Amino acid sequence: MTPEEFRKLGHALVDWVADYRERLPSLPVMSPVAPGAIRARFPAEPPAEGGRLAEAIAALDDAILPGITHWNHPAFFAYFPSNTSLASVLGDLVAAGLGAQGMSWQTSPAATEVEEVVMGWIRRMIGLPPELVGVVQDTASTSTLTALLCARERASGFSQNGAGLQAGAAPLVVYASDQAHSSIEKAALLAGFGKAHLRLVGTDDAHALRLDLLERAVAEDLARGNRPCALVAATGTTSTTALDPVAGMAELAERHGMWLHVDAALAGTAMVLPECRWMWAGVERADSIVFNPHKWMGIGFDFSAYFVRDPQHLVRVMSTNPSYLRTAHDAVVNNFRDWGIPLGRRFRALKGWFHLVDEGVIAMQARIRRDLANAQWLKEQVDATTGWERLAPVPLQTLCLRHVPGGALDERALAEHNLGIARRVNDGGRAYVTPSVLKGKQMIRVSIGATGTERADVERVWAELREAAGRR
Ligand code: PLP
Repeated sequence: MTPEEFRKLGHALVDWVADYRERLPSLPVMSPVAPGAIRARFPAEPPAEGGRLAEAIAALDDAILPGITHWNHPAFFAYFPSNTSLASVLGDLVAAGLGAQGMSWQTSPAATEVEEVVMGWIRRMIGLPPELVGVVQDTASTSTLTALLCARERASGFSQNGAGLQAGAAPLVVYASDQAHSSIEKAALLAGFGKAHLRLVGTDDAHALRLDLLERAVAEDLARGNRPCALVAATGTTSTTALDPVAGMAELAERHGMWLHVDAALAGTAMVLPECRWMWAGVERADSIVFNPHKWMGIGFDFSAYFVRDPQHLVRVMSTNPSYLRTAHDAVVNNFRDWGIPLGRRFRALKGWFHLVDEGVIAMQARIRRDLANAQWLKEQVDATTGWERLAPVPLQTLCLRHVPGGALDERALAEHNLGIARRVNDGGRAYVTPSVLKGKQMIRVSIGATGTERADVERVWAELREAAGRR
């Protein structure tokens, strides 16, 4: 493709994306296609001759759109907000157009330095102190794996440079709550701690980790000759946005020399509001923190913000430094290839920069306050409506509900009834919610926070839910 052809097709595609965003509200939120339906539209053989991109672009509406679940739809209330602002789309376009690799400072100095600037801005926006230094990772899962690898190496005195965890020393133990995201378990397993050394500690009525149970688990491990190694605190669990007691966990971590990692994948964005920062009080004592600006903040996937207290330790764990990657500037620059697992790095900071200069802190704060207020409005409706039950507090933007119709229903019948409500709402295409199970109870999760979601959209999903509950 020549630059001239690119210009033509590119302009048409920008129009297509803009049109798509304009007509979002008219599209069914959840993709209605059956498994295999999209694949069936494609030939089995790759094209022998090229030059058919214009045809592919023309096929986007028919071949691709039906298979898209619209995360930026104003009636998207499923999973978590995953907003991709149009400014961030343009940032990704520039990053792809430049095609730069940011693995070392030298391989594109702007990629490293803009990342430093953007992560510094984000650190200030969420009120973290300057000793916590940020780097972009692809996902919270990768960030948490990185954190547990660093915890393992600190506790084991860099066993990776010797016999690794095979050395036969006392087993290292990781602790999180029974509400922790599955990525915590995955990271603990991948980092070699072993399932037998992962403790998922019980939670209280608000679904937050119980410090007394954590202290007891640590004491039991010490008594058994195990070595407590890392605590993972959740600020905003996936199911209910529960808030673990970060300060108490920090205290315990310091007492036993454990690593404290804070997972605020969704909730980190709320910390742009000073009035929300009590939710993770004590966070400044953490060894590492992750939150995903690619969720609620509006920077498109994949942009996970990972902050560490000791970048030198991170580099020591991650660096292999082969001769062909060394450059004359290594002593005075950051080579972000050594701040995470992959070597190759996209210029992701560009979309962060574009998004932040386009939205600005004040408008972002207003948007987040709007979402929090909408969640409180829905909470009030649920609490005031006979037959509806709320299964968790609402500190942020997620509601956990279920409908309990009159007449005695056992848990199984209630589960079927609520699954039916979620299915009818989702199949209707006018809203999308997540059916989920919380401590054995089937519930419906309503997660507010798509950029386009206004009060009227929340009123509509509430009406949809009540209507679906009546249609048994
Ligand atoms: N941690 C929490 C609390 C989450 O809610 C999620 C995703 O929903 C994750 C981690 C994983 O995020 P990622 O997809 O960036 O790995």
